[in-house]
Amino acid sequence: MAGDEGGWETKQWKVITNTRAHCNSLASLGIRTCFRPCHTLRQTLVRLKDRTPLQQRAGVVYRIPCGTCSKVYIGQTGRTLEHRLKEHKRALTLGNTAQSAVAEHAVDQMHVINWNETKVVSCHPYYCQRCALEAWHIRTEHQTMNRDEGPLSSLYNPLIHRSRPSVV
Ligand SMILES: [Zn+2]
Repeated sequence: MAGDEGGWETKQWKVITNTRAHCNSLASLGIRTCFRPCHTLRQTLVRLKDRTPLQQRAGVVYRIPCGTCSKVYIGQTGRTLEHRLKEHKRALTLGNTAQSAVAEHAVDQMHVINWNETKVVSCHPYYCQRCALEAWHIRTEHQTMNRDEGPLSSLYNPLIHRSRPSVV
């Protein structure tokens, strides 16, 4: 309905996702507002789809611990963890240490990898961000099987070392 027809005043509402304080500020300027929360109970409680299990999610940063020593391997993949783990295990079975730092560690040190404790530590769909997350996780670990520390500026080191858990 148009605003001039039949003497009806048309009110337009604009949704701005701000705080109640912003609404009060606008009210002092004579602008009528109402408060609508950013997160509703419905958004929090209702999930129409089941979450994809982490093993089957694509674009992950993962952590594989050695079962014999305290070293861990931090890796990233754009595919699923399940797929990447098969590649690591195949490289170990075939003794192809060039294709997997995990296989290299297991073969060279004659250690047993604790595949069952493999965990997804971060998820990100974009390669560059995943590489940065991988580098972050490598530097938060005390000992790794990784061949390098990844492409993250050393400017982050003080921040990373602050978040690193202390050795018990
Ligand atoms: Zn080891």
